[in-house]
Amino acid sequence: MRLAASVPAHGDFGSQAVASKHTAEGFDDLLVQSGKRKSLLSYVFFQASEEVSHEVAQAFARILIVSLLTLFFLVSALKGGDRSYVFIGLAYDTLAVAHYFLIIRFPDRHLWRRYLVIAADLAMVSYSAGELGLTGLGFYPLFLWIVIGNGLRFGAHYLRVSTAVGLVGFVVASWQAGTLSAYPGVVFGLAIGLLMMPKFFMVMIKRLAEANRALKEQRDRAEFMAKHDSLTGLPNRALLEDHLHLALAKAKRDASLVAVVFLDLDSFKSINDNFGHQFGDMLLQKVGTCLRSHVRAADTVARLGGDEFVILIEDLKEPSEVAFVVERAFGCVGRYYRLGDYQTFVTWSSGVALYPQDGTDPQTLVKHADTAMYRAKAAGTNQLRFYDARMSEDVAAQLALRDELRMAIELGQFDVLYQPIVSGPGGRIAAVEALVRWNHPTRGLVAPDAFIRVAEQTGLIVPIGRHVLEIACRDLAEWRRAGHTELTVHVNVSARQLAHADFVDLVLAVLDHAALPPQALSLEVTESTLIEDATTAETLFAALKGLGVAISLDDFGTGYSSLAYLKRFSIDNIKIDRSFVAGIPGDASDCALVEAILAIAEHFGAIVVAEGVETATQADWLRAHGCPLMQGWHFGRPMSAGDLLARLEAAPPRPTPLHRYRQG
Ligand code: C2E
Ligand code: CA
Ligand code: CA
Repeated sequence: MRLAASVPAHGDFGSQAVASKHTAEGFDDLLVQSGKRKSLLSYVFFQASEEVSHEVAQAFARILIVSLLTLFFLVSALKGGDRSYVFIGLAYDTLAVAHYFLIIRFPDRHLWRRYLVIAADLAMVSYSAGELGLTGLGFYPLFLWIVIGNGLRFGAHYLRVSTAVGLVGFVVASWQAGTLSAYPGVVFGLAIGLLMMPKFFMVMIKRLAEANRALKEQRDRAEFMAKHDSLTGLPNRALLEDHLHLALAKAKRDASLVAVVFLDLDSFKSINDNFGHQFGDMLLQKVGTCLRSHVRAADTVARLGGDEFVILIEDLKEPSEVAFVVERAFGCVGRYYRLGDYQTFVTWSSGVALYPQDGTDPQTLVKHADTAMYRAKAAGTNQLRFYDARMSEDVAAQLALRDELRMAIELGQFDVLYQPIVSGPGGRIAAVEALVRWNHPTRGLVAPDAFIRVAEQTGLIVPIGRHVLEIACRDLAEWRRAGHTELTVHVNVSARQLAHADFVDLVLAVLDHAALPPQALSLEVTESTLIEDATTAETLFAALKGLGVAISLDDFGTGYSSLAYLKRFSIDNIKIDRSFVAGIPGDASDCALVEAILAIAEHFGAIVVAEGVETATQADWLRAHGCPLMQGWHFGRPMSAGDLLARLEAAPPRPTPLHRYRQG
């Protein structure tokens, strides 16, 4: 059974083993659960509980019955009956009370005690039945009760023993009472009943116990499922919190440390998208198994959902010890996983929060470990970060910024500036890049670096990006109407925008509204956008390019710079990141890199834009090396639409039939 195999050492399936041991002993399992276990009288009818053992309950029943019989004898003695029965009854009752105290004093199981009471009880009943003649047959139910009772309380073996003793007792009593010779058929029938009935009861009870056990198993399974992740069999968030509660209580007692390590696979989404969900699931299972085998048995590995795992490490004396455990867990990443016919390289980001310094309750610790993980993620792949309180402040600041951004969208506080992209020796403006600015009421024009990341994280980049696209197209249409008919506009788009199913429709609608041909627009995306969701990007770009919209690969050289992407996406423009341009012409490796990019771009039929050109020297070097387009402060800083038009008017465009831009 897969589930049982993945039950952690401290799982709760153990209780089942205990239960079945009880079942072999008697039928406690079933009987205890049939309710009302506190009433002493109910013990007489086989209801046992943890507090009152079967032996005690049986002794109590015996005292009760014998007392009732003695009372009966007393009444008949007063009416002139035989007195000796009263004394016999009293004597047996005294013995029964003594036995009761004996087993309370010595509760250990002494098997001989059971045989003895079976023999004594049945002998007593047989004697009474034998003495009373035909009336003795009235003791028949007592025979049954003793036999069945012993079976139910102590198991099948005692049933057999008491059945045998009971049968002998009953037949001897009937013989002595004369009923055997007078009514042999009746005695024979009753004897058969005494043989059969207990067996029948036992079978019935056994069936019930089986059904009960199946139900219990089902309940245990449901309980297990509720506390475990069905994909990996690892504890889920609820069970993690349970474990954390216990761990924190223990750490408090022992003055030890507890670490919560939050792990998140990098680019899991792209694995899902590129290979399919069943491979994503397979990877999660493999990672889960790997983690489990890489941490100590006492540590908890939980899956919170998606590609998020948490390791709970207990019994730490020093924060530095965390590093050892995490290091071992890192054996599960930074390596290839085989998924069917595929291989995939897996990396992750992890964050650590420690008890007591980073939080004293499970929720806070998990939240802070998560925050630290986000920090690690921002720092690149396969990073580990410890939580520090400043992170919380950062998070609070980000939340405030998010709220401010929401307001800003409603109040229309976003402006668009344009930076020229120039071509040829004359520095003719071939295109402009639209760059968003937040026209903040108190802070003035805020540059995108201060808010784009949060806007992307919160999804607010979608309305902001749409606004920029609309303004940029509107302005471009105006410039085109003013005679600058070849001018194009570059608009930055982030992954969140591309992820929207209606992105292509939006672009079309905006172009249509501005009465612009699709060739007037180039969308700038970064490499990380492509990597995040290559499959979606591929279909999306195909659709956009089909329409005639151009695609520019932004900040080229800073990300993964996979040449495969150039081929796969048939990029129109490659924008060399300004960090490389900055090194021109002094830094030989920057120069070599730029030259290489120019050569590669040429091969793929993409047109290069050098970004961040700040000096004439840089511009000359780039021009000499055949860089077709340039952008940077040397040619103009980002400026308002009005200023840009003035720039365009100052240098009227020369219509060039051989436009350097590849379009359509
Ligand atoms: P980017 O797409 O790489 O844009 C170029 C950035 O370089 C702009 O910064 C521009 O002002 C700056 N720049 C241009 N020439 C020079 C130069 O010679 N030297 C130096 N040091 N810098 C130069 P900006 O406007 O602050 O934009 C920063 C980033 O914000 C952009 O980088 C882009 O990634 C993002 N961004 C801007 N507008 C939008 C937008 O509408 N949507 C999205 N999604 N992102 C945007
Ligand atoms: Ca850009
Ligand atoms: Ca750029």
